[in-house]
Amino acid sequence: MNEVKQPKKPLIYYYCIVLICLLLFNALAMPWLMERQIQNVSYNTFISMTEEGNIGRVEISEQDNVILFTDKADENVYKTAMVDDPDLTQRLYDAGASFFGEEIQQMSPILSVLLTWVLPLVIFIGIGQLMSKKLMDRAGGKGSMAFGMGKSNAKVYVKSSKGIKFSDVAGEDEAKENLAEIVEYLHDPQKYKEIGASMPRGILLVGPPGTGKTMLAKAVAGEANVPFFSMSGSEFVEMFVGMGASKVRDLFRQAKEKAPCIVFIDEIDAIGKKRDSQMGGNDEREQTLNQLLTEMDGFDENNGVIILAATNRPESLDPALLRPGRFDRRVPVELPDLKGREEILKVHAKKIKAADDVDYNKIARMASGASGAELANIVNEAALRAVRDHRGCVTQADLEESIEVVIAGYQKKNAILTDREKMIVSYHEIGHALVAAKQTNSAPVQKITIVPRTLGALGYTMQVEEGNHYLMTREEMENKIATYTGGRAAKEIVFGTVTTGASNDIEQATKLARSMITRYGMCKEFDMVAMEAQTNQYLGGDSSLTCSAETQKLIDEKVVELVRQQHEKAAQILMENRAKLDELSRHLYQRETITGEEFMQILNAV
Ligand code: ADP
Repeated sequence: MNEVKQPKKPLIYYYCIVLICLLLFNALAMPWLMERQIQNVSYNTFISMTEEGNIGRVEISEQDNVILFTDKADENVYKTAMVDDPDLTQRLYDAGASFFGEEIQQMSPILSVLLTWVLPLVIFIGIGQLMSKKLMDRAGGKGSMAFGMGKSNAKVYVKSSKGIKFSDVAGEDEAKENLAEIVEYLHDPQKYKEIGASMPRGILLVGPPGTGKTMLAKAVAGEANVPFFSMSGSEFVEMFVGMGASKVRDLFRQAKEKAPCIVFIDEIDAIGKKRDSQMGGNDEREQTLNQLLTEMDGFDENNGVIILAATNRPESLDPALLRPGRFDRRVPVELPDLKGREEILKVHAKKIKAADDVDYNKIARMASGASGAELANIVNEAALRAVRDHRGCVTQADLEESIEVVIAGYQKKNAILTDREKMIVSYHEIGHALVAAKQTNSAPVQKITIVPRTLGALGYTMQVEEGNHYLMTREEMENKIATYTGGRAAKEIVFGTVTTGASNDIEQATKLARSMITRYGMCKEFDMVAMEAQTNQYLGGDSSLTCSAETQKLIDEKVVELVRQQHEKAAQILMENRAKLDELSRHLYQRETITGEEFMQILNAV
């Protein structure tokens, strides 16, 4: 969409003002002498001119040690250094010159007041004005607010045929359906007014980062063909108390002028955080929030201003903001499911040249858990790889490799593993894959590699989910833990030792085991009691324990017990399949990368 910018005053305009100030200063302060060229002459010349009587006015400045004088006709001005000359006064008197010392030439009291008090003030105010203009220009506003800080610097997009449409946002069908109603309303408000229905004033888009919240808001404006004001919550926060509130007022004033329109506030949690009575509260933020609440109450229903806001921390928002009449609708924008991922990949693949035989479904399955933004990044990485390899179009291999790049980083070109290290890594990865494959419910292995990556992995086993999983059974979770421990188990069995290479597995296994016990009620002793409260659901999901110290101790014991059981199970599986473990590990050691099919062929071969 087109962004509307305020016309700027050229820089030369400000330079002119400064120049005029300087000229004025000169005109007031410069003595009569400055208007003419001053010639430097010797004292001899001065004396001879005096004796000739060719002298007009003389100014003696003892402090500066100079004499300034003019000729009889008062045409030229001369300057000479002073010499100790007791007869000077007499000589000048005889020559009929009009002469005066510097104290005679003192400024008039009015001029002195002007120069010492008024002029600095004028210059000061001038500079202040100049800076305020600059600030206002940067803020994109016009008008007369002091220093321009209270102006909202919302970017305004006006309707444009090239705007983002719902068709550009892949997946997210529920969110789109919800927002389509708003578009309908903006197209034909009369239909709603007739029946007495009022539109929600505010709609809150909630979801993890990169799931297309901003895109959806823009698509609503694009579909409805109305102006779109976009501003981030943090832009309201100013250094001075009251400035943020003033920005909110200004934003709403502008929006009302342009109604019907959409106002989009990104990251609203920056201003909408719960107000609390803690010491050192943030006055500025609270005032801004209060103003936002007032403004949302202030406009009458159906006036055509619809507020969309996005956040990934809905639990931190002030309840007053969420009550009906303000943000009364909440639209979840979740991570895309398999179908959504495939659609997003296809939407972004339209922008690049891709081979016809690319299997987007497979790519989508490999990229389980990726957000829209990550998928867009994967497609772009693939295109970059094709360019690097001087190919005309993006292939399946490019996309698969770029998923690995996003997950594990680029291939390390110069990491040289010793033979023994390579063997250990091979056993480690085959350990994971074998345990996963032997447990019936585990997802099939897609690829196993021992090529080191820049993000630290010396090798990894990529698993692919067959479809969408909304529920996980206890057995599935246990199997997953067993798979995580498979790498370490293989090393113990074969080499009889442990290495540092399993830290990530340990972390994952512990996290899973802990959540089974504290959150999913999968431990008999605790029944259906939550031991942990999850915060920041959309930002990685931190959690905090909500139980007594004794229970914490018990939880720790349970976690260790669970992981140990699965570790033993994994070791059991590997020992039972020791021959296959050796065969597969040798194969991987030689090839460095093997596919899931190759793996299964060797595993199933008699
Ligand atoms: P958010 O505001 O949720 O953090 P954005 O709307 O800014 O995310 O999305 C970032 C980028 O991710 C977009 O520019 C787009 O390229 C891509 N993207 C995210 N979700 C989708 C989607 N559903 N369809 C197509 N592209 C998407």
